[in-house]
Amino acid sequence: MENPLTPEVLADPVQLTRALVDIESVSLNEKAIADCVEEVLRGVPHLTTHRHGNTVMARTDLGRSQRVVLAGHLDTVPLNNNFPSTMRGDLMYGCGTSDMKSGTAYALHLAVTLPDPRYDVTYFFYEAEEIESRYNGLNLVAQAYPEWLEADFAVLLEPTYGIVEAGCQGTMRSVVTTTGVRAHSARSWHGANAIHAAAEVLRRLQTYEARRVTIDGCDYREGMNAVRINGGVAGNVVPDLCEVEVNYRFAPDRTPAEAEAHLREVFAGFEVAVTDSVAGAAPGLTAAPAKEFLAAVGAAPIGKLGWTDVARFAAMGIPALNFGPGDPNLAHHPDEHVEISKIRDGAATLHRWLAPA
Ligand SMILES: [Zn+2]
Repeated sequence: MENPLTPEVLADPVQLTRALVDIESVSLNEKAIADCVEEVLRGVPHLTTHRHGNTVMARTDLGRSQRVVLAGHLDTVPLNNNFPSTMRGDLMYGCGTSDMKSGTAYALHLAVTLPDPRYDVTYFFYEAEEIESRYNGLNLVAQAYPEWLEADFAVLLEPTYGIVEAGCQGTMRSVVTTTGVRAHSARSWHGANAIHAAAEVLRRLQTYEARRVTIDGCDYREGMNAVRINGGVAGNVVPDLCEVEVNYRFAPDRTPAEAEAHLREVFAGFEVAVTDSVAGAAPGLTAAPAKEFLAAVGAAPIGKLGWTDVARFAAMGIPALNFGPGDPNLAHHPDEHVEISKIRDGAATLHRWLAPA
């Protein structure tokens, strides 16, 4: 295949977005796009380029006092009659336009066109963000080459519609179990109904007052919800077991251990098993490159409520935020598209931030 990422395309973030969208790269099928990106980066004299699987990393080594990361994933969710891209007025439609090839295009455009950035920059083009964590390119790099991720600040170019979404909330899955005694429902007084006992679990959730926390000016709104319920033996049996699956989204001022302690407090008297948890990420907007980034954007940041890869950086002590031109509400949507003017605005912002003073 002829590499569609020509110098002319690389010079224009809009054309580059379209070219990246038109290389199909559904998760686990990123080899072709990674090959194209790697070939381009290896030809750039001011970058050192490495590859791990289908994740490509390129970095400047200019001896600057600070290093920042710009990261974009190469994969998309499965196609949905939205490949290749199409243009309708100011909108580019297609799988990956919003999430997140328009953001990934920024990193590639800057990597190629900015030989003397104000900070040293590490650019990541990584595989398999849209599927389980064990395939995630950043996760694999963090295990194999953690030194590649070292930086003072990171920007994930995920869709945020041109505003800064800082940090992210943590998430915890748990199961609250009630038990009883099985009996024939015709003589139910011989038993104890575990599903009825779960009413108290649901009552506590229904009356639960979730915290709102402000960190570095960003609002995080917690939530605790029953997301599934299992119980019942047969149509004529008083059930002896009921399991309520509870998902707790917690602000980044709480560690997973603190979140678990809180959850156990809420369900005091019940059996609680935590099945899965991941830490959130504090917004970290006080680092110098982050402050300068916010100044370049010129709009107030908001807290990221979902979990994103910024937490992988936070876990290494690197403050990170999300910033990209796509509309997050259109991610994974068959009508996924991105506004051309948003692509241009964001590119100008990143230039203001990274161009030499
Ligand atoms: Zn994404």
